[in-house]
Amino acid sequence: MTANIRNMTRAVRIGGVAIGGGAPIVVQSMTNTDTADAAATAQQVYDLARAGSELVRITVNTAEAAAQVARIRDELERRDCGVPLVGDFHFNGHRLLSQYPECAEALAKYRINPGNVGKGSRRDEQFATMIEMACRYGKPVRIGVNWGSLDQELLARLMDENAAKAQPLAAEAVMREALVVSALESAAQAQQWGLPADRIVLSCKVSGVQDLILVYRELASRCDYALHLGLTEAGMGSKGIVASTAALSVLLQEGIGDTIRISLTPEPGGDRTREVVVAQEILQTMGLRSFAPMVISCPGCGRTTSTYFQELAAGIQAYLRSQMPLWRAEFPGVEDMHVAVMGCVVNGPGESKQANIGISLPGSGERPVAPVFVDGEKTVTLKGDTIAGDFQKIVDDYVRSHYGSGGTGGVGARRTTTIPIKAAV
Ligand code: SF4
Repeated sequence: MTANIRNMTRAVRIGGVAIGGGAPIVVQSMTNTDTADAAATAQQVYDLARAGSELVRITVNTAEAAAQVARIRDELERRDCGVPLVGDFHFNGHRLLSQYPECAEALAKYRINPGNVGKGSRRDEQFATMIEMACRYGKPVRIGVNWGSLDQELLARLMDENAAKAQPLAAEAVMREALVVSALESAAQAQQWGLPADRIVLSCKVSGVQDLILVYRELASRCDYALHLGLTEAGMGSKGIVASTAALSVLLQEGIGDTIRISLTPEPGGDRTREVVVAQEILQTMGLRSFAPMVISCPGCGRTTSTYFQELAAGIQAYLRSQMPLWRAEFPGVEDMHVAVMGCVVNGPGESKQANIGISLPGSGERPVAPVFVDGEKTVTLKGDTIAGDFQKIVDDYVRSHYGSGGTGGVGARRTTTIPIKAAV
C-alpha cells in the first residue's frame, strides 16, 4: 500500500524506550510548567504519559528546577509512571548537570542545543562538560539544533566560505547547511569526547515546512544517527496541526525520523496533551503505528437530519480514547479497531461494513432507525433515545470478546501497514 521504507539508523535506548534501529517511531512531548514546581510538573508529565507520550521533556533552566528533577521522578514512580524524562538544557546546562548529580542521574536523556551552550572557547569547554556528564551517568543526548538559536560563529564561517565560491548558494541554502553542519560537527565532537554514536540522537528544527523537509533529507543522507523530527514553533490550533502534518508526513513517508514531537502552541488554558494526540494521529493515519481505535465518520451534508450524528461520532471517539489507558494493557490489539459513524444510507452501510463496528444513522426522509454492522454483518437496528448508549455497549462487548486473552481479534478491519526497513543510509 505504501512506498515507505524506513531509513535504518543506529538504535538508541532512552530508559526503557528504543529509538531508531527500526524500532517503532516514538511519540514525545514537552511540559510547559515551571520545573521548579515539582507537583505541577509531575502532574503534567503524568497526564502526557497517560495520553500516550513515550518520552517527556522538561525544562531544566535554573538551580531551583534542577533541584526538583529527582523529586519529580520519585513522584512519577510513586504513581507507577515509568515514562523517561528528558532534560532540556541551554546556557547553564554544564553547571546544572555538574552541581546537581541527582538531577543528572534522574534524567534519561539530556537535550543539548549546540547554539546555546556558550560562545568562543567557552562553548567547547561547556559542551564538553555536558558530554562528560552524559558519559559519567551513562545517558544518551539529543543534539538539538534550532533555527532560532543557530551557532552564529558557524553560520558566519559558512557564509564567508560561500561568498568565496565562484557560484555562491542562496543565503537560505547556507542557513540550512549550517543547521546540518552544526548537528553533525557537534555529534562528531561528542564522539571524540567519548560518547558512543548509539547514545546520540540528532534534530534540526526549523519553522518552515519546505526548509524542514530539505534539512532532514540532507541530514538523513549524511549520517546514521537516530533522528528526532519536529517543526518548531508550529503555531496554534489548526495552523500548527496542518503545518506539522504537512512537514512530518513527507519525511516519514520517505522513511526519515525515529521519534516525533508536535510543537503546538496551546490555547490559553488548553490541554497540553493535544500535542500527543496529534502526533499519534499523524502516525496512525499514515499507517505507521496504531494507538487508539479510529472513528471513521462522514462530514454530514444536506441529508443529515440533526446534530445527533455529530454528537454520536464525537462521543464515541472521546469514549474510545478515554478507555485507552486501561484497554492498552487489558485488550492488546484494540488500537487497530475501526468504528464507523455515518450520517445516512448513501455511504453508511458500505462504510460500516468495512469497519469492525459501524452504525448508519437515518438521513432526511429515511425511517428513524440506525442499523449496526459488526464485522461486516448487520446485527441489530437501534432506534429511540438510547441509540448512543446502546451503540457504546455494543462497542464495549466487541472489545471484550475480540481482544485480549481469549479474544479472536477484529476481523474485516483496515489493517495497519508494516513498514519495511532500509538496510543502511
Ligand atoms: S453519508 Fe450521507 S449524510 Fe454523510 S456525507 Fe454522505 S450523503 Fe451526507
